[in-house]
Amino acid sequence: MGGSDCIFCKIGRGDVPSLRVLETPDLLAFLDIGPLAPGHTLLIPKRHHESVLDVPPDVLARLTSALPPLAGSVLRASGATGLNILQNTGRSAGQVVPHLHFHLIPRREGDSLGFLWNASKYAPGEGEAVQARIIRELQSPAR
Ligand code: 5GP
Ligand code: ZN
Repeated sequence: MGGSDCIFCKIGRGDVPSLRVLETPDLLAFLDIGPLAPGHTLLIPKRHHESVLDVPPDVLARLTSALPPLAGSVLRASGATGLNILQNTGRSAGQVVPHLHFHLIPRREGDSLGFLWNASKYAPGEGEAVQARIIRELQSPAR
């Protein structure tokens, strides 16, 4: 999916209205239509890339370079004391809109937002095996 069918492409082109807070030639930040907290903001590249798995590194670099000033502004404007900056990659990770986006979610103590964070432990040797698999993938020329 991309271009004509994609809601965030439409928002990027201005074909669908949004409450914009930041715009550059290739980036856009706008308020999430279903905020987890007031000020919940989405940052997207205007061109369609599904996730961090297919975005060109230079586009991602420009996107992440926009994060520090945007994060500070969202934090101060919303009166929050913290932010979750979230990027869901893939349906199983909660990605509903298949156009790369970062969530900036204002947080306060006791706001009752949160994630299931069921931390576990590696069995003996398991962490090292996972480490080796990831390193092998990083070194794989097929990447
Ligand atoms: P995801 O679950 O894909 O990481 O997050 C998608 C986000 O996009 C959701 O938080 C949802 O509320 C937001 N969203 C979906 N459609 C629209 C829309 O048409 N306009 C705006 N402003 N936000 C949208
Ligand atoms: Zn798109």
